[in-house]
Amino acid sequence: MKYKAPRGTQDILPGKVEAWQSFESISRTILERHGYREIRTPVFEQKELFLRTVGQDTDIVQKEMYTFADRKDRQLALRPEGTAPVIRSYVENSLWKERALQKLYYIGPMFRYDRPQKGRYRQFHHVGAEALGSLSPLVDAEVIALMEMLLRAAGIKRLILKINSLGEAENRKSYTLALKDYFSGKRDQLCPDCRVRLEANPMRILDCKVPACNQLSRDIPAMEQYLSDQDSEHYEKVQHWLGVLGLSFEKDKNLVRGLDYYTRTTFEFHHDELGATVALGGGGRYDGLVEECGGPEIPAIGFSLGTERVLLAASLDRAGKDDTVDKRKGALYLAWLGEGVLEAAFKLAFALRNIVPVEMDLEARSLKAQLRQADKMGVSHVLILGDQELVSKKVQVKDLTTGDQVDLDIEKLVEFIHTKIKCYDTDKAPERIVDKALGGELREALSFFVNSGGN
Ligand code: AMP
Repeated sequence: MKYKAPRGTQDILPGKVEAWQSFESISRTILERHGYREIRTPVFEQKELFLRTVGQDTDIVQKEMYTFADRKDRQLALRPEGTAPVIRSYVENSLWKERALQKLYYIGPMFRYDRPQKGRYRQFHHVGAEALGSLSPLVDAEVIALMEMLLRAAGIKRLILKINSLGEAENRKSYTLALKDYFSGKRDQLCPDCRVRLEANPMRILDCKVPACNQLSRDIPAMEQYLSDQDSEHYEKVQHWLGVLGLSFEKDKNLVRGLDYYTRTTFEFHHDELGATVALGGGGRYDGLVEECGGPEIPAIGFSLGTERVLLAASLDRAGKDDTVDKRKGALYLAWLGEGVLEAAFKLAFALRNIVPVEMDLEARSLKAQLRQADKMGVSHVLILGDQELVSKKVQVKDLTTGDQVDLDIEKLVEFIHTKIKCYDTDKAPERIVDKALGGELREALSFFVNSGGN
């Protein structure tokens, strides 16, 4: 029996996972600098939550949700997106009482029964943020600029920002009627799904991926004509503040996004090589959603971006760049020769791991085999320990990037690692970490080493 990952899912293997870790880590840093704090919600929720918020007539709810009943027949759904769960939690935990402007972010998997293809999976991952508690267009501009910063930090260069305004729920009603009017004359040319959408929720025709419907959507009346004065003013101000922050954008009247809860500002980021149908991410205002979820009347705006697509776009923008720099990890391989030094080596490896990643042979292989292994693992330096070294209280250190080899007093080892090996811990707070390590296990291990050599 051979098992396979379910269709539309993928394993993120070592070698690839580093790019994920690095994007997630830089995202956290940037989000936290902007005052966002992480929130983690369950990966499944009551199905009803998404029906009410994302919308009954959306593709997500109609076709893409993973729903199931548990053993007590509770109707549940794997989350297809992160905003509704965050709002559910915000209301359930009265987070609005804690601070007037609540800024939250999340990182995690989402699930949609989509047709798998490039950049489209059934389990994919979002980095998302929500700012709850302000109607100010400054927040809109800040959220959009923040999202752009994340995309740039991932290494994406060819970004296209599209924006639109959907107005408030009231104005949307007259716009919806205008759309209905527009599409009614073209009913026969619509796909069967869109004929249903025409009656239930004409705006959803704009999300349709069928080329004929897409074509028909090009000449729809512009939402801008249906915006109230306040909506128009808000939209103008968002554009003004985006300009102040130096962001260029295209206005796109078809940008309604595939979820029902958006009001006023919507936006999406695209990459020119991935095309218009594959957005890197997007978001918008959802001024009525908190109330819809049983909370007070609190306006909000947020975005989510798809990590798979972000990394794909980043790799497209990196293509052709010279990648030849030596990618050796700032890490050590501890090679040891003979049972006589094993105890010292074993302790030393453990102790050194306080300050640097250390690999060590556990099979008593030959020096040649150990060096080969070290090379394969891509470490930057090898420490070589034999009887001779133990007696003279030295280690040999081989730099695998340059091939240089030096004899080093064991007491100088920590300083050497600290100054010569670019490992992540010592990068962050070298003195503190080294001191802490030296104060404890590492000092003990080094003295063990020195003493065992002397005896
Ligand atoms: P949406 O809420 O549908 O606009 O999704 C936001 C972002 O999530 C998109 O722009 C994509 O980057 C990502 N995304 C959505 N659906 C998928 C999927 N099936 N596979 C991969 N990424 C997705």
